[in-house]
Amino acid sequence: MKKRVVVLGATGSIGESTLRVARALSNKIEIVGISGGQNVHRLLEISREFPAARICAGDELGAATLRSNLPGCEVLHGAHGLETLAAMPEADLVLVAIVGTAGLKPALRALESGKDLAVASKEILVMAGEQVMATAKRMGGRVLPVDSEHNAVFQCLEGQDHSTVKRLILTCSGGPFRKASATDLASVTPEQALKHPTWSMGRKISIDSATLFNKGLEMIEARWLFNIPMEKIDVVIHPQSIVHSMVEFVDGSIMAQMSSTDMALPIQYALTYPERHSGPCAPLDLTLVGRLDFEAPRADLFPALELARRAGIAGGTLPAVLNAANETAVEAFLAGRLSFPGIWESVARAMDSVPFVEHPTLDELIEADRAARSVIAK
Ligand code: NDP
Ligand code: MG
Repeated sequence: MKKRVVVLGATGSIGESTLRVARALSNKIEIVGISGGQNVHRLLEISREFPAARICAGDELGAATLRSNLPGCEVLHGAHGLETLAAMPEADLVLVAIVGTAGLKPALRALESGKDLAVASKEILVMAGEQVMATAKRMGGRVLPVDSEHNAVFQCLEGQDHSTVKRLILTCSGGPFRKASATDLASVTPEQALKHPTWSMGRKISIDSATLFNKGLEMIEARWLFNIPMEKIDVVIHPQSIVHSMVEFVDGSIMAQMSSTDMALPIQYALTYPERHSGPCAPLDLTLVGRLDFEAPRADLFPALELARRAGIAGGTLPAVLNAANETAVEAFLAGRLSFPGIWESVARAMDSVPFVEHPTLDELIEADRAARSVIAK
């Protein structure tokens, strides 16, 4: 039987890779719902390619354009439309690939409706990982990681006794400024920061990769996905991005997952889990890669990792504050209103100034998110 999949964020980088997997595995995967944001033109093209899918546009205007081009077709829009799509009875699995936290409520709705959730949007696990994982446990749904590092850890943990895990080792390319000096970083432009050495991704995550906030967010993401304390999560720089992450066990064994730098592979594994199939990802020839390097991250130059570790250990509202402050600071940097080091300086300021709640409700998390954004906007 085909897995019936809703793709939230179909017009983005992860969304497009998901459609590539769906095309290659059309006998296994059926796309039953798609959403987009501002790119109405691309959403229309995708709707024509997958005519059976229900559609959600970013706003009313986009929905009207789609309706006029797709006569007789019902088109949803906005936050409510995303939740309707996430809960649609015809779906087995919802993949959330909306940048930022706009995917949080749809993700919770998907789980509450008894579906499995594939998560690309790490921000929602950083903000509300405890709530997402608790909802999955209560409803019996799976939370399947799409992020390549977490998908690698997920694969390495298959069939293992989790109590024998000594630590998770998340790999990190180091971004475009791995070898930079503090003086170089002060004058980094958005164009320079958007050039990732190994992956082609959306704008926000590309900046996060350059500041290393991406890895910081991923540490917190791993903490919730695998129910493991922050102290057992390490980061190692691996410039080739071939080893996607590792798990060290108590006996000293380290298991690693390797594949080409193509998000199609982790997306496919999340969609077809627990099955493996031949798909669109190119095979990896290690003789062409030649060597694999590993080095310690430069914590002095990239404070994002320590800020994230601090937020992950403290828990409560602090990860939500870190995440929202970072998202707002990245927007300000891309708009030319903030320097590159200003991103982590702003995040640290928000973490020190937004009131801390140790056991927040969802509403308190949303309020912490709002408060952090307003600190950065000042
Ligand atoms: P993109 O910016 O390429 O795509 C984002 C998608 O979300 C687009 O479809 C966009 O629509 C939609 N969108 C943006 N804002 C809203 C909103 N407020 N409401 C509804 N839809 C919205 O991002 P990526 O695909 O790179 O990343 C998506 C998520 O996956 C991020 O959380 C990222 O951290 C994570 N991720 C990405 C990886 C990658 O390789 N790209 C790897 C691992 C994780 P539109 O474009 O039409 O406006
Ligand atoms: Mg990643």
